[in-house]
Amino acid sequence: MGKKMKIAVIGAGASGMAAAITAEKCGAEVTLFEKNERVGKKILSTGNGKCNLGNLEFSMEQYYCSDKEKLQNIFQTFSVWDTVSFFENMGLMIKNKNGYLYPYSEQASTVLDLLRTELMRAHVSVRTEVEIVSAGSHKEKEGFELTDSEGNHYFFEKLILACGSPASLKKGEGRSGYELAAQLGHHISPLLPGLVQLKSDERFIRALSGVRCQAGVTLLIDGQTAAVERGELQFTDYGISGIPVFQFSRIAARALENGQEVKVMTDFFPDQDEKAFGYMTRLRYEAQKDKSLEDYLTGTLNKKICRVMIKQAGLQTEMAAEEAGWLKIKELMLGCRSFEIHISETNSLENAQVCAGGVDFGEISTELESRIVKGLYFTGEMVDVDGKCGGYNLQWAWSSGYLAGRNAAGCPVEEISVQEDAPVC
Ligand SMILES: Cc1cc2nc3c(=O)[nH]c(=O)nc-3n(C[C@H](O)[C@H](O)[C@H](O)COP(=O)(O)OP(=O)(O)OC[C@H]3O[C@@H](n4cnc5c(N)ncnc54)[C@H](O)[C@@H]3O)c2cc1C
Repeated sequence: MGKKMKIAVIGAGASGMAAAITAEKCGAEVTLFEKNERVGKKILSTGNGKCNLGNLEFSMEQYYCSDKEKLQNIFQTFSVWDTVSFFENMGLMIKNKNGYLYPYSEQASTVLDLLRTELMRAHVSVRTEVEIVSAGSHKEKEGFELTDSEGNHYFFEKLILACGSPASLKKGEGRSGYELAAQLGHHISPLLPGLVQLKSDERFIRALSGVRCQAGVTLLIDGQTAAVERGELQFTDYGISGIPVFQFSRIAARALENGQEVKVMTDFFPDQDEKAFGYMTRLRYEAQKDKSLEDYLTGTLNKKICRVMIKQAGLQTEMAAEEAGWLKIKELMLGCRSFEIHISETNSLENAQVCAGGVDFGEISTELESRIVKGLYFTGEMVDVDGKCGGYNLQWAWSSGYLAGRNAAGCPVEEISVQEDAPVC
């Protein structure tokens, strides 16, 4: 039997574990370094503890990166259906909720337990509580010299960096992977929060705190529509949150970084057809105009929203609707469909679910190998690729992890024949 290829994987998160399992199964001898005392900590908090591990509704629209064609090629080689097979082969039953994939148990810990068992079954050497602090490529020996925080040295023929990002970690944590990549000659694009709450300096924000409602939300950058979303909008005492806000938060973050003006226009009646809404507004006025404005709006939206809308229209809650007059009432009702919220900043990276930015995607090949240093691979969130909410970031972690592991071990990627109707419960 030939000598086994020695591969180091730094970071035992979603992508690092997928890479280590795959490389070892391809015949390499893998050491997986993790600075925490346990592997896969972040997986436990995904999907509100249920782990949304992928999504059958898959398109490049769900991703942000500098080269979508390259990203698509990567996902074509390891798709969401390959993810299903990858986990089913480990024994995971998968639940399909309108395309969103979860473990059948609806416990993120199930996914982590199976990954841990698979690391053992594949005989990956897992070294927890070891933080790698420096990495250099060794030209003569063709490989990589690593040093940990205790000053121990290691040598490996191939290196996979799977160190994740600072998203959701304590301030100052989660940047060591970028330092290793930079030591090896890579460029790091600015790190910004993605999937994060937006802050507003509007005076009415506090008055709306606690409101949750269905809304249509449009992101306006310098007055131009940049993104449109719909779903449950949540008001907090500092700004807005909820999935529709998360989905475009990374575009807002980039615009704010560039000094552009950012606003979110809200439609509190997203289900109402424009014509029918106009008709209803007129009928309502005729039937309810004797009421005070506060009572007049009761029966439409959340009370806190009604009060703010009245104030924003320059009216008083106790004033009779009739006194305000039809034109002002019409303006008030239409205002509920185009309510603008000025955004001052995003919440910080520590509050974000993912990090936008990272190792320049242009410096990485479709095989996930560095274009600068041979034998060096990158996976997961440390690369400047990020996805929307809905399982797309873990999908990137599994796809990039699997392919980096496979390619580092020197296994050719075979045509993986996966049935698109594979048994997903
Ligand atoms: C609250 C929350 C909920 C989320 N929910 C979802 C969801 O439902 N679906 C979805 O698709 N995505 C979700 N995400 C995003 C998803 O979890 C991440 O994109 C994904 O886990 C990234 O995987 P990774 O392998 O790149 O990095 P990580 O999982 O962060 O792993 C990196 C690992 O490397 C270790 N490490 C770093 N540097 C070193 C070093 N120098 N030496 C040794 N070890 C090191 C770290 O300790 C860490 O364990 C969520 C994120 C958060 C925060």
